[in-house]
Amino acid sequence: MTVAVVGAGLAGLSAAWELTRAGADAVVLEAERRAGGVVLTEQRDGFIVEGGPDGFLTAEPDIQELAREIGIGDRLVGQVARGSTMWTGRTLEPIAEGKAAELLGIQSTAPLQAGFTSFAAGMQEIVDALVARLGPRVRTTQGVSGMAPAPRGWRLSLTGSSSLEAQAVVLAVPAWIAARLLVGVGVPGARALEDVVYHPSITVSLAYRVDQVPAKLEGTGFVAASDASGAVGACTYAWRKYSKRAPDGFALLRAFVTAVDEDPGAIAHNELTAILGLAGPPLWTRAFHWWRGLPRYHGGHAQRVAAVRERLTRLAPLAIAGAGFDGAGVSACVKSGGEAARVILNRLGR
Ligand SMILES: Cc1cc2nc3c(=O)[nH]c(=O)nc-3n(C[C@H](O)[C@H](O)[C@H](O)COP(=O)(O)OP(=O)(O)OC[C@H]3O[C@@H](n4cnc5c(N)ncnc54)[C@H](O)[C@@H]3O)c2cc1C
Repeated sequence: MTVAVVGAGLAGLSAAWELTRAGADAVVLEAERRAGGVVLTEQRDGFIVEGGPDGFLTAEPDIQELAREIGIGDRLVGQVARGSTMWTGRTLEPIAEGKAAELLGIQSTAPLQAGFTSFAAGMQEIVDALVARLGPRVRTTQGVSGMAPAPRGWRLSLTGSSSLEAQAVVLAVPAWIAARLLVGVGVPGARALEDVVYHPSITVSLAYRVDQVPAKLEGTGFVAASDASGAVGACTYAWRKYSKRAPDGFALLRAFVTAVDEDPGAIAHNELTAILGLAGPPLWTRAFHWWRGLPRYHGGHAQRVAAVRERLTRLAPLAIAGAGFDGAGVSACVKSGGEAARVILNRLGR
């Protein structure tokens, strides 16, 4: 019988892969028209444009092991330029790599010295490879609106008033959605998962000719000091961080912009012109709005998640996975998905 994985972000796809590898019959139910969740890469005029994550710490093994397992290990690429700077509001000053991660709120226990890694054609590569391996098991525009116990597991209500029976379920959706589904089946303490706060952000990619950008830019980008006024909180020199992110003779910047009312592309260009000394307008800009972007946990988060997981052991096989629970980084999400799959396989005696 079927194991339903709800959510086709990296956590859900990793869970489905692990289940499939073990011989279980997995089906992934995704609300949106595409798989990948916040992992989203666009190819445009020879540029590789990341909407969400652009890489992960090289010291984090899980996503790299998965990449090798699904046959795209040779697509892993290390960062080229190194080092970061801080925009103080007046100048750009070199800072330690760890300091930049700290200012950006990257929470990881992995060491930072080895730098960052990505995929040659962007982060979407791992999503596409997983979707190709999973084939028709991944069903898009199939959102789960509710769940209820069934004689042999669970009954999921799907978009369009259809339903699906599954022996086991992995919820790989953001914490507030998992909370709602778990409250619906009476899991004590589940509402506390809504405590996870997802911060809104906008990523803006801006394309220039390389002669519009000062040649002496240092490192892979800058982070703005918390007291530097402005909407741009950080900027990655994307075409210098990883190779082949822009065609020869062109440059690609990516800014993290706080929620703004006006055109984020224009705001980013104006602020970056003042900070970096850009010459002339961008060839184009592309903004991605993440109304609920990176999750942050409050104190006691791990205990609340552990308490919910303990409660799940008393129900038909049901597990939770993803950035809302076990760490926001892409590698942590791969690990979390794999672990949820193994919990389910254990419960099914496989
Ligand atoms: C702008 C940005 C930049 C980032 N940069 C980095 C980075 O550089 N490095 C790094 O390691 N991490 C980064 N992260 C974090 C990381 O990308 C995410 O935490 C991770 O990809 C989340 O994966 P997930 O599978 O847990 O969730 P998601 O990607 O959110 O996937 C959840 C999926 O569930 C689906 N869903 C929701 N509700 C339902 C429903 N009811 N039924 C069915 N499906 C549903 C959603 O549509 C979505 O596809 C970044 C995140 C953002 C937003």
